[in-house]
Amino acid sequence: MEFKKMDTQNMSSTGNTEGVERVKCLIIGSGPAGYTAAIYAARANMNPVMYEGLQPGGQLTTTTEVDNFPGYPEGVTGPVLMEDLKKQATRFGADVRFGMATAADFSGGIHTIEIDYKDKIEAETVIIATGATAKYLGLESEEKFKGQGVSACATCDGFFYKGMDVAVVGGGDTAAEEATYLAGLCNKVYLIIRKDYMRASKAMQARVEKTENIEVLYNTNTKEITGDMMGVDGVVVNTNGEERKLDVKGFFVAIGHKPNSDIFAEYLDTDEVGYIKTVPGTSKTNVDGVFACGDVQDPHYRQAITAAGSGCTAALDAERYIGAKNS
Ligand code: NDP
Repeated sequence: MEFKKMDTQNMSSTGNTEGVERVKCLIIGSGPAGYTAAIYAARANMNPVMYEGLQPGGQLTTTTEVDNFPGYPEGVTGPVLMEDLKKQATRFGADVRFGMATAADFSGGIHTIEIDYKDKIEAETVIIATGATAKYLGLESEEKFKGQGVSACATCDGFFYKGMDVAVVGGGDTAAEEATYLAGLCNKVYLIIRKDYMRASKAMQARVEKTENIEVLYNTNTKEITGDMMGVDGVVVNTNGEERKLDVKGFFVAIGHKPNSDIFAEYLDTDEVGYIKTVPGTSKTNVDGVFACGDVQDPHYRQAITAAGSGCTAALDAERYIGAKNS
């Protein structure tokens, strides 16, 4: 694709060239990073346009209690927190739209993003806040029973397994959190951990240990998920070479996430997992005018508050980029 170079000095925040909408600041993704970027960009008169993506509000909308986001002394639920962030962004004029970025072209001075496989939008600056997506084990039987007993979100689907036995796989904070959440709904929860220890924080480990209806299976791998037309009826596991079947109706995968950076991979430097690389201490990517924030560029902290902080950084970086270009 070729783009005409435009004089952006006097360009309004939303322009229109050759039928293609052009904006000063396009934000992709609507988690804490995206909304915080939108709040700052809107307040800086950049008239940001945000595309919410497939999961408006991001991963936090699938969380129950969030107790560690500053400013909520009594805690807040994920959906309420995200709704608050959205209200705050729109109060300052952020244009929040339903739609998903499906392709990117960062080859010119003005960047082009394709929305929902059809519309195109041009942007002087792009803030990528597309987050990360849950990973699965990769078993054929897991794929077969997705949505029929296999889930990557206990808070979304746990309700369907009320009073039943379920299994959670993973040894990190997410798995520990999902297991304790499910323990409040289900009869029994098996927590399947491949190593002989849990990676989760000490506080989460203590919660798991304190919960009577969670049984932790260390050194255990999932071999297969079994079931029929009605859905899952068990999971075959191997503990230190010994196989057995757990009679569970639900199988929850909590083994980490993959950054949502595929559509940018042609242009942006990423690490081997796909996390977008940014210049340390900034949100700048290797492409001028393209910034990344939140979980899509953070393999280490991945917290709502660190995502929000990096969203602020991205909006400030974008504003300074435009300022420097126009001065
Ligand atoms: P993590 O990467 O921390 O943990 C993933 C877990 O899944 C590990 O135990 C890992 O095992 C296991 N695993 C990975 N692949 C496989 C596989 N193929 N088969 C079996 N097990 C597998 O991911 P989380 O999603 O738990 O956490 C991500 C980040 O978010 C962390 O920094 C965490 O602290 C944070 N977080 C914080 C929360 C909070 O503060 N309330 C809540 C949830 C997450 P192994 O250890 O062997 O590698």
